Amino acid sequence: MKELCFATNNKNKVAEVSRMLEGQYKLLTLEEIGCHEELAEDQDTLEGNSRQKAQYVWDKYKVNCFADDTGLEVDILCGSPGVYSARYAGPQRSDADNIRHLLKNMEGEENRRARFRTSITLYLDGEEHQFEGIVNGHITTAWQGDKGFGYDPVFVPEGHDRTFAQMSPEDKNTISHRGEAIRRLVEFLRAR
Ligand code: IMP
Repeated sequence: MKELCFATNNKNKVAEVSRMLEGQYKLLTLEEIGCHEELAEDQDTLEGNSRQKAQYVWDKYKVNCFADDTGLEVDILCGSPGVYSARYAGPQRSDADNIRHLLKNMEGEENRRARFRTSITLYLDGEEHQFEGIVNGHITTAWQGDKGFGYDPVFVPEGHDRTFAQMSPEDKNTISHRGEAIRRLVEFLRAR
């Protein structure tokens, strides 16, 4: 089976994506390719961050790889937290603190429209390719569900009445931003 490194240290994401690539690609973690350093992601766009991580791994390890970056974009907050989603409530990068901060900043707001957007950059034999996935939805006023991670307990995707945190990983992957971006990546890899 072909091998491909997913340049992330987030085990939740590796598990999600491994399920989607099952039987087609063996996903390698950063540890498995011998990369133990923290990857920088200090660009001001999602595309810039996913490129920065994938390019670093390709340049240093010469392993085919992809990296992702996701942001939650809230309309009433002018697209925030966006690229700063992970550290919205501070450098401790706490999911619970981020959700509390978000709900507080949206207190009393009726317009709760938001979207998750994922950018993936693939480095394949040194060539760069980018893919995007988007899921529109809204932010709830209270936490619901205990599955998933990040902002899942307060995000309801359009056309559904449950948060991502109330869905099984399989159901979430079918409609999620990252699921869509990964499917575009997989379609591209199959056509090569
Ligand atoms: P990352 O940089 O792609 O890891 O994501 C940035 C921030 O968005 C982190 O705080 C994550 O918790 C959050 N995030 C990324 N993907 C998801 C998701 O699928 N559901 C909820 N939150 C997410």
